[in-house]
Amino acid sequence: MDIITDHGQKIYIAEPNEIDETVEYVVARQRELERIVHSNYNYSGSYFYEFGEECKKYANEGIHFGYYFWNNDEEKGPIIDIAMYKKDLGYQRVQFENSKCLNCGSWWRIANPSWLVMYPKYDFDISELEYPLLGCPKCGGKIDRNAIWIGEELDRRLYRRPGDPKNNYAEIEKSDD
Ligand SMILES: [Zn+2]
Repeated sequence: MDIITDHGQKIYIAEPNEIDETVEYVVARQRELERIVHSNYNYSGSYFYEFGEECKKYANEGIHFGYYFWNNDEEKGPIIDIAMYKKDLGYQRVQFENSKCLNCGSWWRIANPSWLVMYPKYDFDISELEYPLLGCPKCGGKIDRNAIWIGEELDRRLYRRPGDPKNNYAEIEKSDD
């Protein structure tokens, strides 16, 4: 496990063979923190769990996934999954989301670096980003959120963003029917 310090926060980057363990750990910690520290914390750790298999697949292509602690405090600080680390460009923290191509309407798993909740201790500016923003793998169109990594194409029924209220998920599911 590589440990990187970024703006005073510890970032843990998993090696491919550590991903299962990391996912389990993050999900367990997330549940614990939701229960004990942040009863109103509006985040679903299970979303990270969905990424386990994909994380392993892409880790073998030089993209690594990890997690970090807010407040640089493993005992008290909430954790966020996931940081992404691509060996040629370096580490970048991201949120995984399901997002849509505004041109062809296809849905993709993406890594979004511009969710500001990930940067509690400093102001992140998208112009500082060293990763290029990507378009739709199918048609080259614009993705509705900033993407520096695009993974699997999705069934649009899976659409949800981590951090969305649970009732949003239900509404979207219903509207798809
Ligand atoms: Zn498209």
